Amino acid sequence: MSIPFIKTLDFQYGVPAQISPLVRRVIANNPGPFTFFGTGTYIIGHGNVAVIDPGPDDDAHLTALLAATKGETITHIFVTHPHLDHSPLAAKLSAVSGAKTYGKSEKLGHKPIDANTEEGDDDGFRPDIEVNDGEKIACHGFDLEAIFTPGHTGNHVCYALPQENALFSGDHIMGWSTSVIIPPDGDMSDYLDSLDKVAARDFATLYPTHGAPITEPAPFIAAYKQHRVTRENQVIECLRQGTTKIIDMVPILYANVDKRLWPAAARSLHAHLIRLVKIGRAIGGVNLGDNYHLI
Ligand SMILES: [Zn+2]
Repeated sequence: MSIPFIKTLDFQYGVPAQISPLVRRVIANNPGPFTFFGTGTYIIGHGNVAVIDPGPDDDAHLTALLAATKGETITHIFVTHPHLDHSPLAAKLSAVSGAKTYGKSEKLGHKPIDANTEEGDDDGFRPDIEVNDGEKIACHGFDLEAIFTPGHTGNHVCYALPQENALFSGDHIMGWSTSVIIPPDGDMSDYLDSLDKVAARDFATLYPTHGAPITEPAPFIAAYKQHRVTRENQVIECLRQGTTKIIDMVPILYANVDKRLWPAAARSLHAHLIRLVKIGRAIGGVNLGDNYHLI
């Protein structure tokens, strides 16, 4: 079962697109290996609007968001997680609009992330208002429900829009790519649980922060999860064959993948091995260079 990725998107940078009755999207001009075409900032509602994931600290994107909401009032600013392509513009947008920021602060042990393997952290991000799991925030003519989805980061939050049975899925579930899970902040066990949590809600549409909407979430999430289960089984097979180090597993499991992606692949295998230790299938340390053995 391969993941039915959606690799195309019809858009223009900085130009708002109405993509559902309540949802508009403006894409920032920050394309890259972890952002695809760039950050998709969502504007919800009409007249009094909420913004989800303002994006990178980019004046052109701020100007585009203000132009897109000209004559309207931004009442709420939501952030899915504090990565540099999602949260930094929240402060400036809040200062200009007076809207409060909503999200979840760091809660887990956290190390700076290698710039080659992820988008980087916005360590300074602190929302004005900490959201709680399951909390419904009443906006003007619609609600947004915070759904904690740790895994990609320990403080990742998706936001549901009940009026359209839709979910703003941040970097938890993306249509164009799998999500990057890098320990210690990234946690594979949490991630798989968070996939189940979203699947159980049976949303009609997922709006990731990068790329096109996912309009058939159920089969997509099933394939997305199966991909992780398959990889976990491959890691178990490596251990069974006596390969104990991640550095030796990467060339086996990623033989057909561009070597420039191998450092990121190693981090992903690390997340799998930490999970196998956590669930009692393997023994080993918490460091990338440690030896691992099946129990
Ligand atoms: Zn991210």
